[in-house]
Amino acid sequence: MITRRDAAQRLDIPVQMAARHGLPTTLTEAQLRDIEDRPPPWLVQSRAGRTGTRPVWVDLVCSVCGSTERVRPKKWWPTFTLVSCADHHRGDLDPPAPGDGREEVLGVGSRFVGWVDTPQD
Ligand SMILES: [Zn+2]
Repeated sequence: MITRRDAAQRLDIPVQMAARHGLPTTLTEAQLRDIEDRPPPWLVQSRAGRTGTRPVWVDLVCSVCGSTERVRPKKWWPTFTLVSCADHHRGDLDPPAPGDGREEVLGVGSRFVGWVDTPQD
């Protein structure tokens, strides 16, 4: 069985949209493949309307241990130089380039922090 959340990720749409258009809370692989093969009009429209905009899902990849989480990107996120699990120490990360300062952004995904390196003058 595939959960609605997993189905939304596969279809690259928000979970709320999947729910609004009647995707059940769990689907079989065959049901999902059917939707992928013959996308309903709302899905075609959603994909067409999104060209060139932010991705619906992004993969956060910890730069220390490589663990990943697939999440919806937030509007307030800056462009991260690195992301890492929240439980690593700052010293576990590759240091910023000489002359760059590093800022920490808390609360990225369920267990990540983002790091933004910017040149200091
Ligand atoms: Zn990690």
